[in-house]
Amino acid sequence: MFRPLSLLIINISKHNVASQIKYSTAILPRLSSTIWNIRENIAEAGLHDGYVFKYDVSIPLNNYYDIVLLLRKKLEGKYTNIYGYGHIGDGNIHINVTVPEYSKEVCDMLEPYIFEQVAKLKGSISAEHGVGFRKPQFIHYSKDESALRLMKDLKHLMDPNGILNPYKVLPDV
Ligand SMILES: [Zn+2]
Repeated sequence: MFRPLSLLIINISKHNVASQIKYSTAILPRLSSTIWNIRENIAEAGLHDGYVFKYDVSIPLNNYYDIVLLLRKKLEGKYTNIYGYGHIGDGNIHINVTVPEYSKEVCDMLEPYIFEQVAKLKGSISAEHGVGFRKPQFIHYSKDESALRLMKDLKHLMDPNGILNPYKVLPDV
């Protein structure tokens, strides 16, 4: 199936694949399928390094890739690969940080740093995969007190017993 390259941005390690594309897919459809193969296998590829810390955030397009560069600087000498890929159309970027094995030290260097930087870049700490169980304590980096209060009021109005999708999205306090 033909899919236009304009929907895709990939930056793998230090090689910016997207910047090397100089031709339209009408001329080079095979290049399109090569790029899509990379995109569809990139999540699995990270596992070959050992362990992958994954984040799903969004960043305004003017600074779309800055978060990757910031993380590489912050974690210098502590990671195997740090790369971002995803949805240039809506600013959603998937961040993968690969290491030989899970490391609490790296985890502590990543969080809350990544969310602080996303907030500074005026992005959102949660994109297509939602806040879920893992990120309620970080939601204040993207939503202020009044927004959270309104969200809680609406939730309470529609779900007074807290039985719908419990424990997700909104922090307890
Ligand atoms: Zn995605």
